[in-house]
Amino acid sequence: MRLRFAPSPTGQLHVGNARTALFNWLLARGSGGTFILRIEDTDAERSTRESEGGIVRDLRWLGLNWDEGPDVGGAHGPYRQSERLHLYQSYAKELLGADKAYYCFCTTAQLDAERQEAVAAGRPARYSGTCRRISRDQAAARIAGGERPAIRFRVPEEGDIVFSDAVRGDVRFHADVIGDPIILRAEGPPAYNFAVVVDDALMAVTHVIRGEDHISNTPRQILLYEALGFTPPTFAHLSLVMGPDHSPLSKRHGATSVAEFRSKGYLPEALVNYLALIGWSPREAGGSDDELVPIDELARRFSLDRVGHSAGVFDEEKLAWANRHYLKIADPVRLAELSLPYFNDAGVRMTPNDAGTAFLAFAMSMASASVDRLSQVPARLALLFDYDAATALSDPRVREEMGAEGARSVVTALAEELALAPRLDRERFRAVANQVKARTGQKGKALFHPIRLALTGRAEGPELDLAVPAIDRGADLPASAGIPRVLGCRERAAAFAQALEEQ
Ligand code: GLU
Repeated sequence: MRLRFAPSPTGQLHVGNARTALFNWLLARGSGGTFILRIEDTDAERSTRESEGGIVRDLRWLGLNWDEGPDVGGAHGPYRQSERLHLYQSYAKELLGADKAYYCFCTTAQLDAERQEAVAAGRPARYSGTCRRISRDQAAARIAGGERPAIRFRVPEEGDIVFSDAVRGDVRFHADVIGDPIILRAEGPPAYNFAVVVDDALMAVTHVIRGEDHISNTPRQILLYEALGFTPPTFAHLSLVMGPDHSPLSKRHGATSVAEFRSKGYLPEALVNYLALIGWSPREAGGSDDELVPIDELARRFSLDRVGHSAGVFDEEKLAWANRHYLKIADPVRLAELSLPYFNDAGVRMTPNDAGTAFLAFAMSMASASVDRLSQVPARLALLFDYDAATALSDPRVREEMGAEGARSVVTALAEELALAPRLDRERFRAVANQVKARTGQKGKALFHPIRLALTGRAEGPELDLAVPAIDRGADLPASAGIPRVLGCRERAAAFAQALEEQ
């Protein structure tokens, strides 16, 4: 099988298009086939290299690698349509020669007027065929006279076009509703329907999976395949990705592009897994019930016959659910590295070296099981860097909890125990907590709440078993680690006890 993703580089990669790319990739990889990236940049005004670069980066980030494409080459290149103009010209000439295409001299103004008239009369707005009857000699004379015609495909006058869509079943169009489409514009660039047929045929594409917004183009393309003597591929039209109100997912629903979801702090494996679930299910007949499946396993299980054709709604809650799963199982060093931009955005500037990264990775256990997205990591780890006893005690909730019976004695005992203790790991922390318990007679909440307030400066947060060792590991880091200063538990307890005294 040979499959392709053919984006137009006119903006950012939309998640709906990323899903199209993914389904093509899954089928190619699952079948041992080839995945091709082709850049459809014939619209010179709207296409940019910057957008192409962004799409390439986003596809790579998602892990959708290709075997042939503009950057990696391949036997069927070039893979940018702007570099294939000679091919479109030559196939258009072939159609002209066989009288399957003709020159069209109609001006934009004429065509606009024709369209408006048809719409006003309630007729389908299709080309009326004005230039169909111009003879070759007449056309040659007009070109010699300086006119620059477009080339139109002569759509056969009768018959239905029927194709079997791998997702939607048999699809039928009447030829008489299809006006003769332009295949080559007067200025030279090919029309989408023509370029796509020439390219898919020459690139030996066997399966075209794309959005159903293209389904009305498919009969034109099938006619062009036939006229050029090529065999059409299998088509599969995917229902579009919708917003919660069941209109196509767009800016007014919020984030729409892969880049936006990346910057919100979703992991690529979560986005890929979630996109695969829109309109398809990895659940195997009689197999495991699991929807959270790594990409290679998705590819192994993927088949077009289990792709549904009802519209899929993009549900960010479900994406967050997938993300939580992948955050929990991700390598903490990777999460530490991926979190850096979010720390810097939150004003916690850092440029960690290996020891600094190892520390952050260690601290990540406080966050990775309890956040939806990487952008929430800095808030979750803020207790490492922003400790200040006086600020903590200015929080009414902290003050209220410190007013509880026995709370002060816990803090005093904690400060005294820590003054003599080495830096804490989990076991040492438990031993110290037991000492404080023995000295004060407090237990449970009455013991651990004051300890939490004194050591983290807040009434809520991660488990102390995770936070305390992380704080003390941070406190031992040299400045060269590139991490902002972390005040140790000993110093925190002393400062908190002191601030309480001064109240
Ligand atoms: N360039 C077209 C698009 O981005 C490709 C459509 C197709 O796959 O044929 O919509």
